Amino acid sequence: MNLHKLMLTENACYKAGRTITVKGIMVHSTGANNPNLKRYVGPNDGLLGENQYGNHWNTYHPGGREVCVHAFIGKLADGTIATYQCLPWNHRGWHAGGSANNTHIGFEICEDGLTDYTYFQKVYREAVELCAYLCKEYGLTEQNIICHSEGYKQGVASNHGDVMHWFPKHGKSMDTFRAEVKALLAADTKEDTEDTAEPVVTYPEKLTSGYYRVRKTWKDSKSQVGAYRVLANAKAAADKNPGTHVFTNDGVAIYPVDDATDSGTADYRIHTVVKGDTLWDIAALYLGKGSRYPEIKTLNGLKSNVIYSGWKLKIPN
Ligand SMILES: [Zn+2]
Repeated sequence: MNLHKLMLTENACYKAGRTITVKGIMVHSTGANNPNLKRYVGPNDGLLGENQYGNHWNTYHPGGREVCVHAFIGKLADGTIATYQCLPWNHRGWHAGGSANNTHIGFEICEDGLTDYTYFQKVYREAVELCAYLCKEYGLTEQNIICHSEGYKQGVASNHGDVMHWFPKHGKSMDTFRAEVKALLAADTKEDTEDTAEPVVTYPEKLTSGYYRVRKTWKDSKSQVGAYRVLANAKAAADKNPGTHVFTNDGVAIYPVDDATDSGTADYRIHTVVKGDTLWDIAALYLGKGSRYPEIKTLNGLKSNVIYSGWKLKIPN
């Protein structure tokens, strides 16, 4: 999966700011022949390309309608397939025209003319990977995934045909889709249990976002004596306040170290993935530019851009 983030902050749905408890995922397709993400997602982040009509969905009521989804899958300017997350996953979206808005993450696959098998294969696979990722993040299974037309049959969505006017043209259905998500989840679980080695950890001297926090324990936030961008300052504060430790922004105690860990020679540092992180975010955080995520992939031997909470990712220095 090639996951990017661009929140549709001008959309009335985003501004409504309501959250849901995620119980399922609804797959949509746009119903218009335009496979380009820039039609729906904007402004141009350098990868999407310019939408010369300015009619993307980062406006209050796109096309006069109350619509917004959690993500789009389609083409970047260079033709690469990508997923763009447009709302926080637990935000209440406006995609189903029914009660599924209160329970389901909804994403749109950008349709083309519906006859190009190569395009279909790519976006279908991207959608399978997105669903597997969301299932893992929210404790769902493939059984919690429906398309818009299935939602209509269940009485939780408006009367639309997507995606069953398209998938069967290429020998697929929501049943094959669910089966492929299931297979991917099973493969990921196997990988997780095999991968137990924890690499050597070093931490950046100066953070550009987040803080090193000096506390007695991570849970005891009241014991915090300070929060620092600069690691040396945090260590000095911990030295001055016996019983305190330096914690990373996501709660890993890193100083003082009570065993002799060799942390001086690594040419990378570690980021512990938290819920909602994408490779794009992490690359932007540490390397200044999300487009540098291929370096992180290479260093960690990753084959896709899908990452999960709790993973310890090596970040090149
Ligand atoms: Zn739909």
